[in-house]
Amino acid sequence: MDCIFCKIAAGEIPSTKVFENDKIVAFKDLNPQAPVHLLVIPREHIASADEVNADNALSIAEIFKNIPSIAADAGLTNGYRIITNIGEDGCQSVKHMHFHILGGTKLAERMC
Ligand code: AMP
Ligand code: ZN
Repeated sequence: MDCIFCKIAAGEIPSTKVFENDKIVAFKDLNPQAPVHLLVIPREHIASADEVNADNALSIAEIFKNIPSIAADAGLTNGYRIITNIGEDGCQSVKHMHFHILGGTKLAERMC
């Protein structure tokens, strides 16, 4: 499968990783939309949050278990936003589930 985030998880293409363990990887977004813009992905290929099921739900738990410390390490002491885009209408450009962590400033109130 030609998936850019699988390749980042495998270390086959470069990224600025800020956290990794056996199940998930967090790295800096190449095109940041806030002073802090990280992406958190499962190592296993899940196309989007719409593909979460009983067999792969532990990846979600692992991501959310680690987000507080990933955010704290990034200096996000005053709040942040987590976004996951899904499919065409959600403007998902990379078809490997990822959670954006955005912060480091007061974010816009509008979400769309
Ligand atoms: P989305 O539009 O929700 O699918 O978000 C995809 C995100 O991946 C965008 O914010 C891109 O800037 C980011 N992105 C794409 N390729 C890379 C890469 N090689 N390294 C880091 N971030 C990337
Ligand atoms: Zn993938």
